[in-house]
Amino acid sequence: MRLIVTGGAGFIGSALIRQLIAEETSVTVINADKLTYAGNLDCLESVASSPRYHFERVDVCDAGAVQQLFRRYHPDAVIHLASETHVDRSIDGPAAFIQTNIFGTYTLLEAAREHLASLRGSEKARFRLLHVSTDEVFGSLGSSAHFNETSRYCPNSPYAASKASADHLARAWHKTYGLPVVITNCSNNFGPYQFPEKLIPLMILTALEEGPLPVYGDGQNVRDWLYVADHCRAIRRALAGGRVGESYTIGAHCEKTNLEVVGQVGLLLDQLRPRENGKSYRELIQFVEDRPGHDRRYAIDPSKAKKELGWAPQETFKSALRKTVKWYLDNLPWCARIRDGSYQGERLGVLR
Ligand code: NAD
Repeated sequence: MRLIVTGGAGFIGSALIRQLIAEETSVTVINADKLTYAGNLDCLESVASSPRYHFERVDVCDAGAVQQLFRRYHPDAVIHLASETHVDRSIDGPAAFIQTNIFGTYTLLEAAREHLASLRGSEKARFRLLHVSTDEVFGSLGSSAHFNETSRYCPNSPYAASKASADHLARAWHKTYGLPVVITNCSNNFGPYQFPEKLIPLMILTALEEGPLPVYGDGQNVRDWLYVADHCRAIRRALAGGRVGESYTIGAHCEKTNLEVVGQVGLLLDQLRPRENGKSYRELIQFVEDRPGHDRRYAIDPSKAKKELGWAPQETFKSALRKTVKWYLDNLPWCARIRDGSYQGERLGVLR
């Protein structure tokens, strides 16, 4: 099977490609990525020499380049992850989110539609486009209830609104043009190689530098955490067995407040890399101004994915967080290379 993965040099895309190359010997992966600040080919060093892996530097907004990609590789399926993904950045500069997440998705859907029209028989019947999205499209929950596939779209940040738009386009291209689309909406991911602007790696690296650990607002915002390898397994199941035109919410029933998560990171660092002054890293926690429009709670009901796709997470939060913290401690040169670029851990997404 020839599979195009857009955004394959990012956090989830690279984890997915490493997993596919390791576990699915019949799959050839074409990684199509623009290599923005968030894309990094270091994440794919372990698969770079595989004859089943190809990299193409492509901007999904470039219709000609995307069309060429389909013509050259003649894919059996596409997994679309290319996206601008950081909520705080979407507050400071929404334009790139509108461009990549909405226009880029439209461009990809159109190229896939043209490709589908060129296919016949079993190739046509087999073709799929899996659109990877987020639970943030559903907005914020109260203290009970969970998001599922029937939840109302109610995005609150520019990021969430751009992803919601992309979901609607993907759905419409299925309904109108018969493009065989499957959508997944997943909760917050964590794991190795995550860009250190996101909560968990930001806290690990800031703690090691003895900096204040910035917790937004009162720290009681709840996210439903999922280890990235479990998300990748869900994506693979959805591609293989998801019903065309359907969406699947993906999560591990792992709700934590941001304060709890930062506290757990601090405790793990206390064990794995104790501070010289003998104090706990948790003493570095500092409450800072909240994010504008900060959603209070996300939580996923994954029962449809469980029932229809046979998917369940393999990791617990505790085991996965330990693995993640250890990975960052063992890979500080990677983090330093990332931080030598434009982002150095500064606060983003505050309206001034
Ligand atoms: P990421 O920011 O780590 O990586 C995004 C990748 O997309 C980068 O490699 C970047 O170079 C590439 N990219 C950006 N603009 C592009 C363009 N115009 N053309 C081609 N490539 C481009 O993101 P991630 O955390 O790996 O997320 C991947 C996908 O999963 C996104 O669609 C995101 O919305 C979704 N998602 C993420 C999470 C999460 O917690 N990280 C949760 C649910 C869903």
